[in-house]
Amino acid sequence: MTHKSPCPRCAGDGRISAYTHVKAGVCFRCGGAGTITTKYPPRAPSEKFGITGIQDGERRLLFWVKARNEADALKKASRKPVVGAGIWRGQP
Ligand SMILES: [Zn+2]
Repeated sequence: MTHKSPCPRCAGDGRISAYTHVKAGVCFRCGGAGTITTKYPPRAPSEKFGITGIQDGERRLLFWVKARNEADALKKASRKPVVGAGIWRGQP
């Protein structure tokens, strides 16, 4: 099983304008296709998750972390001294 991802070199353009003097700027990574084939599905882009915790007896929004999913966000939050860490369900 293979997956197509946007080419990381040319960001899906298939050409790199800085290299127009070499083969008309065709991206060497994807050969001008704009996509590359990978063995694994592309990683979900990072999202911002608000981390809540108990502070002065109240649940408060403490800080934001960038993570791929809630479990990852909580894992990152656990590196800080947060009491009762949870995910903020409101808007960023
Ligand atoms: Zn490319």
